[in-house]
Amino acid sequence: MELLTGRVTAIAQHHRRATGVVVAEGMIEGDAVVIAMGPWSILAALSLPLPAVFGLKGHSIVFDTGNAVPGEALFIEYRKPAGAALSPEIFPRADGTTYVCAISSETPLPIDPAQVAPDPGAIERLEAICASLSPVLSPTKSLARQACYRPITADGLPLIRRVPGVAGAYVATGPSVWGILNALATGEAMAELIVDGVAHNVDLQPFDPSRLPPVEPEAISEAAANLHRDRQKRRHPVGSNNNPAGSRDGIDDSGWALGLSMRDRTFARMLISRDSPRS
Ligand SMILES: Cc1cc2nc3c(=O)[nH]c(=O)nc-3n(C[C@H](O)[C@H](O)[C@H](O)COP(=O)(O)OP(=O)(O)OC[C@H]3O[C@@H](n4cnc5c(N)ncnc54)[C@H](O)[C@@H]3O)c2cc1C
Repeated sequence: MELLTGRVTAIAQHHRRATGVVVAEGMIEGDAVVIAMGPWSILAALSLPLPAVFGLKGHSIVFDTGNAVPGEALFIEYRKPAGAALSPEIFPRADGTTYVCAISSETPLPIDPAQVAPDPGAIERLEAICASLSPVLSPTKSLARQACYRPITADGLPLIRRVPGVAGAYVATGPSVWGILNALATGEAMAELIVDGVAHNVDLQPFDPSRLPPVEPEAISEAAANLHRDRQKRRHPVGSNNNPAGSRDGIDDSGWALGLSMRDRTFARMLISRDSPRS
């Protein structure tokens, strides 16, 4: 087995069969293609009939706690002085660090995963919560301050099965807040599905992607182009001498974001309710 890394830009197909993935260096051929790009899986809908996958952002801090913390996870209900409730999660880890996460947001997903960064002020708010919980979670002990996106579908269930209508194409994404817990079962089921034609231990019927309407590729490009135009207008107001960079098919990888937030109603309407018999 060989592990190749690369940024996939399209799924290669021949006569309704997936034959590989396209990366900068060319095409990597394969008998089976599994779409497992988390919230970025929605970009595969440019090539394949797949439902929308949205990104819900979360923030986290890793602390150096040594052996000062017992090895038990904590799920906390935390009420801020102003009354708002939060549910921080605290996970001591075997390497002497402790991971704390909380504070979700609807900030749109950047197309480039390397551009994911905490929202302004979110880490400071999380640090204040941690410091009030315990002195071992003091900001001076923090090793990493970070953000990530949970991949979520319109009905909250993952997509784990064959891609309808395209032989050799499979999808394994949308696990929402349980992608770590379900990773092993998902991997096993997917391997069995590909090799044996059926998953032996997990009933994949509820996770069939055909239960949801597929995203129209034009909707992604159109929504991306609209967002791009809005951003450029804000960055380069009328009369500005700066010449905005163009976008490729409405999708530009120079760091601007594709609007995939759950509550972006315009975008969600464009994606989900369009001319679909199931919508
Ligand atoms: C704060 C927080 C706390 C969480 N806590 C838990 C928990 O306690 N338990 C639990 O089970 N789950 C938890 N989750 C959810 C879990 O992290 C996700 O469900 C899981 O990471 C999803 O895994 P994935 O592999 O499907 O997607 P991801 O982890 O998002 O991986 C997708 C990968 O695809 C890559 N990619 C994107 N675009 C391309 C491209 N064009 N070409 C090639 N590669 C690409 C990305 O770089 C990334 O590496 C939490 C999530 C957050 C944000």
